[in-house]
Amino acid sequence: MHAAAQVIVEKHDGEFPTDFESVLALPGIGRYTAGAILSIALDQKLPILEGNTIRLFARLMTMQSDPRTTNNQKALWEFSESLLPRKRCGDFNQALMELGSQICNPKRPKCLVCPVNNLCMTAVKGLQEQIPVASKKVKYEDLLEAAIVVNKADRILVRQCGPGERWESLWDFPRYTLSPDTEAKSHAQQLLKQLKEETGLAAELSGPVFQMKHAVTRYRITLQCWKGDGVTGRLKKTQTPTRWATLREIEEMPMSVTGRKIARKLKSK
Ligand code: SF4
Repeated sequence: MHAAAQVIVEKHDGEFPTDFESVLALPGIGRYTAGAILSIALDQKLPILEGNTIRLFARLMTMQSDPRTTNNQKALWEFSESLLPRKRCGDFNQALMELGSQICNPKRPKCLVCPVNNLCMTAVKGLQEQIPVASKKVKYEDLLEAAIVVNKADRILVRQCGPGERWESLWDFPRYTLSPDTEAKSHAQQLLKQLKEETGLAAELSGPVFQMKHAVTRYRITLQCWKGDGVTGRLKKTQTPTRWATLREIEEMPMSVTGRKIARKLKSK
């Protein structure tokens, strides 16, 4: 929200944008949220798709495969769009979500009182328990990562995550993936090398100072925090913005979730 608020101030003069592309471009806002905001607040003709409507549409479409696949998501969005009335799309979208949550619920859909039961082949065929098809169990992958807190006087090195990165457009400490089978000494060498390559800076590394665990999509991540002092070299032009910032400035920056946690730990010391 903070990141989105900053973009609104910087790019839209503090006014919440009213066109779909601009709303979608705000950090943290996906297609569903953009459609929900603009249809409900401004009655724009935009579809929505979230948990309740996925279930409702999958049943109305008698979708007999995982609704989360790319093709099925596309079909569900198209279906949602095809249903939109000419006016009061916000009310219509909210009614669909209500229908999904109150009537077409996951375990015991109330088909007898459902206002669209005459359109629903899932109910006719008695397939309510099979549709929507459950997603295959996610195979989790363990990852070991290291974030380096590089200090220079009272400033710390931070970088903005680039397109396609996990925390795209948010700020973070330099972060690298480590091999889980290697020892801390080799990790330090690897981190030094990558830091140098990416930023042109060398530092005396110590760590891991502390570590935290978190999960993102199918990754279970152990994030080590390393310290870098005695910096030498000049910060070179990097692919994504990289800068020195005080802890106070970092507090005001839109940080990745774990970057924010690290910053809080640094502040409490
Ligand atoms: S008839 Fe039953 S399964 Fe079909 S949409 Fe209504 S509640 Fe859902």
